[in-house]
Amino acid sequence: MDCWKEAEGKRVHDPWFYQYYRHSTAGDGHRMTTKPGATAKADRRVWVPGPIIVGAGPSGLVVAACLKEKGVPSLILERANCIASLWQLKTYDRLRLHLPKQFCELPLMPFPKWFPTYPTKQQFIAYLQDYARRFDIRPAFNETVVSAEYDAVLGFWRVRTEAVNGKEERTEYVSQWLVVATGENAEAVVPEFDGIREFKGTIMHTSTYKSGDVFRGKRVLVVGCGNSGMEVCLDLCNHNAHPSIVVRDAVHVLPREMLGSSTFGLSMWLLKWFPVQMVDRLLLLVARLMLGDTARFGLERPQIGPLELKSLSGKTPVLDVGTLAKIKSGDIKVCSAIKRFTGHGVEFVDGRSSEFDAVIFATGYKSNVASWLKEREFFSEKDGLPRRPFPNGWKGERGLYAVGFTKRGILGASMDAMRIARDIEQCWRAEAKQLLAFHCPSEQK
Ligand SMILES: Cc1cc2nc3c(=O)[nH]c(=O)nc-3n(C[C@H](O)[C@H](O)[C@H](O)COP(=O)(O)OP(=O)(O)OC[C@H]3O[C@@H](n4cnc5c(N)ncnc54)[C@H](O)[C@@H]3O)c2cc1C
Repeated sequence: MDCWKEAEGKRVHDPWFYQYYRHSTAGDGHRMTTKPGATAKADRRVWVPGPIIVGAGPSGLVVAACLKEKGVPSLILERANCIASLWQLKTYDRLRLHLPKQFCELPLMPFPKWFPTYPTKQQFIAYLQDYARRFDIRPAFNETVVSAEYDAVLGFWRVRTEAVNGKEERTEYVSQWLVVATGENAEAVVPEFDGIREFKGTIMHTSTYKSGDVFRGKRVLVVGCGNSGMEVCLDLCNHNAHPSIVVRDAVHVLPREMLGSSTFGLSMWLLKWFPVQMVDRLLLLVARLMLGDTARFGLERPQIGPLELKSLSGKTPVLDVGTLAKIKSGDIKVCSAIKRFTGHGVEFVDGRSSEFDAVIFATGYKSNVASWLKEREFFSEKDGLPRRPFPNGWKGERGLYAVGFTKRGILGASMDAMRIARDIEQCWRAEAKQLLAFHCPSEQK
């Protein structure tokens, strides 16, 4: 692969390129450059020969690994001080993968054989750390991307970061390719409620919840009944707290396993043969036989089946890991939507009111792409997600890519990543060939 390095190396001596960028030091393999006379916006500039990847979660790691395997270098910029920060810093202790391991494995490196069907978060993090080591992926940590825009004159993406380690250093990274891997869960969502500022108890989002240990004996209201909300309630019960859960919308609760297989795996298999409505009917029939009528416990089912709803709206069904039994036994109380907060509790829309010591918002996350990417064709300004639905939302124009925005978890991210790596590799090789032809025409004969 030396010829690629050579050709790439020659580009930096290209007089056209050089008139914009004067090189200074080179510490980590990426060229540091200073644009003459321009220091107002960035303290330093770094030219990155391969793609810039924003985010060192599973999506960013898998793109970097697939590129590496094809001989293309890349640089990951990550705001946190570690890889997989969502998993390491923002998830509760008892978390296991929601889906069976075969659907969460990254390409190029299988899970260790001894991993259980649903690995713990510690096992998953250890796997990701091994993955980064194996492909020698070394992200630039503590670098929050605050803006990225395409410079049509240069033909490059200019990605500006602010260091979050107290140094207040601003850097501009420049590259021909930008891979957005900041995830669907970049920022916690906490809705506004009347009177919330009057509430005197503890308020937190599930992203800061670790364990029910600190809530022993306390009355806790969990707002939101997705997988996280349901599991946090179970954890609170197991730590002798007294949880209640707000169920505002209809929700599909399915057993995590049915007919001797994982519900997710079985659904994927059935979808190969039958239309989605038929598979949904089967899932709901088995769920009814195993769990009973969930509406009796305050968990109404949506009109649309679980898989169809997932593909239409991205709303994931809850895979029950024991919470429903606690709801049936009355250990977890189900409440209607919140009308307003009071000093010591909550009034609900059905007219009831209760006192609580703490409120935990399990109200999900959102993308933050719209806040920093200065591009509106490929990514929607409204929700920070690619406008085109899966499987076409991975590639934009002018070297822009998106990975991990498919609402299909790690499996979807892996599919995106392999496509992106193939696409960039083609471009990388074609350019290297052109440069070689330009600078050393004799070698081309
Ligand atoms: C509780 C929970 C359980 C889950 N369980 C599963 C499961 O079992 N299976 C499954 O497939 N999926 C699961 N998911 C979904 C899961 O989030 C993803 O599959 C996976 O983490 C997505 O990886 P990602 O790299 O796309 O995003 P993330 O893991 O969110 O990583 C994005 C990274 O980008 C960084 N970042 C964000 N903004 C910036 C910025 N401006 N500048 C620099 N860096 C930035 C973040 O710090 C983060 O490290 C779960 C999610 C949650 C919340």
